[in-house]
Amino acid sequence: MLETDLLPVKQRPSVAYTEATRAVEEDEEIRRMTEAELIEGINRLRKERHAVILAHNYQIPVIQDLADFVGDSLELSRQAAQTDAEVIVFCGVHFMAETAAILCPDKKVLIPDPEAGCSLAASVTAEQVRRWKEKHPDAIVVAYINTTAEVKAEVDYCCTSANAVKVVQALPPDREILFLPDMFLGAYVQRVTGRRMYLWPGECHVHAGIRPEDIQGLFERYPDADLLLHPECGCISQCMFALAEGELPADRTFIYSTSGMIRHVRNSSAPTHLVATEVGILHRMRKEAPHKQFVPVKEDAICEYMKTITLPKVYRALRDMVYEVRVPEDITQRARQAIERMLAIV
Ligand code: SF4
Repeated sequence: MLETDLLPVKQRPSVAYTEATRAVEEDEEIRRMTEAELIEGINRLRKERHAVILAHNYQIPVIQDLADFVGDSLELSRQAAQTDAEVIVFCGVHFMAETAAILCPDKKVLIPDPEAGCSLAASVTAEQVRRWKEKHPDAIVVAYINTTAEVKAEVDYCCTSANAVKVVQALPPDREILFLPDMFLGAYVQRVTGRRMYLWPGECHVHAGIRPEDIQGLFERYPDADLLLHPECGCISQCMFALAEGELPADRTFIYSTSGMIRHVRNSSAPTHLVATEVGILHRMRKEAPHKQFVPVKEDAICEYMKTITLPKVYRALRDMVYEVRVPEDITQRARQAIERMLAIV
């Protein structure tokens, strides 16, 4: 059930020309460096700083290739929590670096561009969550990990697309559930678990832009392909309906988080995979299974926030130890509880 009488969805963060972009463009040393020199410099500095570089699956190829670990939000949170490194350079968007800072209060967490935002995280504020909870005082609040630290501090559980179903299934059956902020993921979880949930009307503009018409006719064009769909996609409800009606082949249509997609690509015998998520993941898939064909369902499904992280910015982050991500102590405590409750379930 969509809660549409709430405040309007907030505007997207801007990526027009960030402060970090200006800083690297005006930096004499960085301007003179070639790509090979930047990589060499990053490798030297990461040793000197005892730093680990974590990169999300949607990062540009050169960043994925130099990272110590590439993964989805959940995998990166786990890596951040386990690392012995003193510094974490988080190549992803801001809420992810905040999550690392929440889980590792004794480490320095750097993000190469602090304006790497997220349209989904920007679609709900802590104040909106407080108002929503007032309307449903007995409800359990579940927040997708794509939320700010302030929002996480207001909720009972976090979840990712990899574990949202398990988290909701673990909740007492007699309690109302408020699910935020992604309405497509929420609708998917509602359908799989059979739980009645109130859904926040938020969306990721990249995944919401993957529409049912992008799926139409794909199996005719690629008869030997598997279709991999991310549950944030705008086509997910229609695809689940089409699956139930037999209009999409159940043995070749799969709904996965990005980590689930990578596992599927490794293990499936299909020679072709149709991929419905942000196109950055295709680089990882091609490395995992170079003999297979990967076709983006929507070629321009590109997250401009993820792409603000570049080699010069990673070099500058390590050289100047910028930009540190800090979360106030009281917010850290409350947000960590919601994340740890999730990690206890999965
Ligand atoms: S792809 Fe969507 S959910 Fe992921 S970081 Fe970009 S805007 Fe946010």
